[in-house]
Amino acid sequence: MSLEGQLALITGAGRGIGKTIALKLARSGADIAFTDLAPEIEGLSSEVEALGRKCWAYQVDVTQADLVEEMTRAILAETGRIDILVNNAGITQDNLMLRMRPEQWSKVIDVNLNGVFMVTRYVLKTMVRQRSGKIISISSVVGFSGNPGQVNYSSTKAALIGFTKSLAREVGQRGVTVNAVAPGFIDTAMTRALSDSQQEAILQQIPLNRMGNPEDIAHAVEFLASENAAYITGTILHVNGGMY
Ligand code: NAD
Repeated sequence: MSLEGQLALITGAGRGIGKTIALKLARSGADIAFTDLAPEIEGLSSEVEALGRKCWAYQVDVTQADLVEEMTRAILAETGRIDILVNNAGITQDNLMLRMRPEQWSKVIDVNLNGVFMVTRYVLKTMVRQRSGKIISISSVVGFSGNPGQVNYSSTKAALIGFTKSLAREVGQRGVTVNAVAPGFIDTAMTRALSDSQQEAILQQIPLNRMGNPEDIAHAVEFLASENAAYITGTILHVNGGMY
């Protein structure tokens, strides 16, 4: 699946699933631009450059429209194009509904949903002008199944499904595909924050009997970003070990 000569922008790629996606796309030949709140926490740029690809790191909060616009301009000045956008940045602030504070609700909506709107808004203009592009957003199994303690998070992940399906219908004729990947429970800092008993309860719901790893998600993103997925748009690819 060669992505030679393409530019992929990945949000929240400083660590976890986003970092693994960035390295996977770089191994397939793409140059990488990425954002994170602290972009160099795990040295992604040097790992990408060691693969012989170019890498641009931006300390940009995806909810800040002016910074996102500035970043998009800077990428275009360097590369002249953006071929692949992976909306990966996301957070949790779990609480039971009866205890959930309005700021926990708003913060998660802001990053996981408004952030996707903000970045896509600027990148889409470029893709439409190019008459080509691939937009892939990272949803979650809990956007389909629900999960106690995550009314805020699962609402955003369900919203990304509507976002993906609607945008796919809007821009298909302009040569842009829009898809999402819905991971199950993946072994990252986000899930390591769960208690042992929570992790054990989750494992019991997974027919393949293991947590996923970030590579499992990166494979799916790489496929959707490739020409092998040229006729796929408006689709959600579930990568969850069979739990849903
Ligand atoms: P993670 O916490 O390890 O990584 C998320 C990254 O996003 C972090 O580096 C963080 O700094 C960055 N980020 C957070 N807010 C940001 C902002 N406002 N602007 C820019 N960057 C920001 O999490 P992860 O497990 O790698 O999750 C990646 C994505 O996958 C998220 O959207 C998450 O909701 C989704 N997901 C994860 C799992 C899982 O089990 N880990 C399951 C389903 C979906």
